[in-house]
Amino acid sequence: MKILMAASEAVPFAKTGGLADAVSALSLALSNLGHEVKIVLPRYYSISREKLQLLEGPLGVPMGRGEEWCAVYTAVLPGGTKKNPVNVYFIDHENFFGRDGIYGVPWEPDYLDNPRRFGFFSRSVFQLCRKIDWYPDILHAHDWPAAMVPVFLKFAERSGNFEKTASVLTVHNLGYQGIYGKDNYDYLNLWWDTFYNAGFEDGNMMNFLKAGLYSADKLNTVSPNYAQETRTQAHGFRLDGVLRYRSADYCGILNGIDDKVWNPKTDTLIPQTYSVQDISGKAKAKEVLQQTFNLPGNPDIPVIGMVTRLTEQKGVGELFGPTYGSAWSICRDLNLQFVLLGSGDPWCEQEIRSLSSRLSNFKGRIGYSEELSHLIEAGSDFFLMPSRYEPCGLNQMYSLAYGTLPIVRNTGGLTDTVENYNQDTGSGTGFIFDDLTPLAIYNTLGWAVWAYYNRRDHIEAMRIRAMKQNFSWKKSAQKYIDLYAGALNLIRGT
Ligand code: ADP
Repeated sequence: MKILMAASEAVPFAKTGGLADAVSALSLALSNLGHEVKIVLPRYYSISREKLQLLEGPLGVPMGRGEEWCAVYTAVLPGGTKKNPVNVYFIDHENFFGRDGIYGVPWEPDYLDNPRRFGFFSRSVFQLCRKIDWYPDILHAHDWPAAMVPVFLKFAERSGNFEKTASVLTVHNLGYQGIYGKDNYDYLNLWWDTFYNAGFEDGNMMNFLKAGLYSADKLNTVSPNYAQETRTQAHGFRLDGVLRYRSADYCGILNGIDDKVWNPKTDTLIPQTYSVQDISGKAKAKEVLQQTFNLPGNPDIPVIGMVTRLTEQKGVGELFGPTYGSAWSICRDLNLQFVLLGSGDPWCEQEIRSLSSRLSNFKGRIGYSEELSHLIEAGSDFFLMPSRYEPCGLNQMYSLAYGTLPIVRNTGGLTDTVENYNQDTGSGTGFIFDDLTPLAIYNTLGWAVWAYYNRRDHIEAMRIRAMKQNFSWKKSAQKYIDLYAGALNLIRGT
């Protein structure tokens, strides 16, 4: 199959979250299965042109009442094979993408011209195919910035070489939809009846993701449980009705993890590699973790780790809210050490700095560091994710692979990947709670710490079980192939 991925992020070129990991890893997994995969991304200012190769001639994209002109660069996605490489194409439009942020900057988190930037990007995908004379069977769009791809395909482009192309839209996070003023619509160069036919309408605004969800041939999100949850009012972010309407074409496929990067057997960012057969390197990682975070060296105290964006989605209000959150009482009452790496909402960063200065067993580091995130995954005993919602979540899968038991809320992909501890049988791979309340987090950490001190045999057995889980992309890529086949069947009736 020929597959073109359209996305706003892909590692190692541009990343703000799990989307970037998923796009590249899925592309590589599909190419390993023998499919021809290409990726198209905007060329952000942060992606140096020097490392890319310029395609000859400009690209004209019909937008507004005229054309936008851009250049196209290309590179090979690292990690693929020589025989079947994944080529990445970069749409280079200085005015739209020659700036610091991907979606915005701290003082303008959502650039005012984002509907134009990503509307243009989505339309450029078709012109790119014409330029390189390569027409995919599947156009696979990711999240709202690429959600116009299926819309353009259905309402403007499905003829000639795109006659038999089908579209798939993957929702990595339903919380971000791309909702903008209708005054941007003309720029998309679509008829006004399409505004209603494609489902752009959202109050008096236009909603990119909603139009994409109505227009794509097949839809999915990144875990089976999140696919169920998003059909309900509680988790549907007002699009649950659309998703119920599209139920027959909508499913959940769990993300995999990149086991070249996240594998304790080969990880070069941890002090000593380890495996199920010989787990001793984990104790070494704990020792180095305690040193790195200036905590007293003690192999017998449970270490709780956290690596996260500090935003409401991740449950940081319930944990770190200055009067409401439970982090203070957790660290005061329980005999544990707590390390955190993250960045995000200023109030939360401030609170974490304050807790670090007031509590001897809590150490928070504000910032982004791949290296520290590997050390925390390897050196901690437990990994906390009290998410409000979690489409898939990667960190709990990394934790399991490293024998670090996740403590998670019963939501989204966390439910699909973590098995709750049963203290009668000693089975499970982690600790799960239902309610997102400070008390529930407190109690569940208390439960894990209790098991650590009183049921050590259970903890050791859970570690081994966790490390034996298989979250390979190969398995998920097979499921995407089935989804693509379903989309093609709708278009071609084959
Ligand atoms: P989301 O995409 O919602 O942030 P995921 O769990 O799907 O959540 O993916 C987050 C990814 O970003 C993980 O790979 C995680 O380790 C990484 N990450 C988040 N914050 C940091 C940080 N401060 N330093 C290093 N890595 C981080």
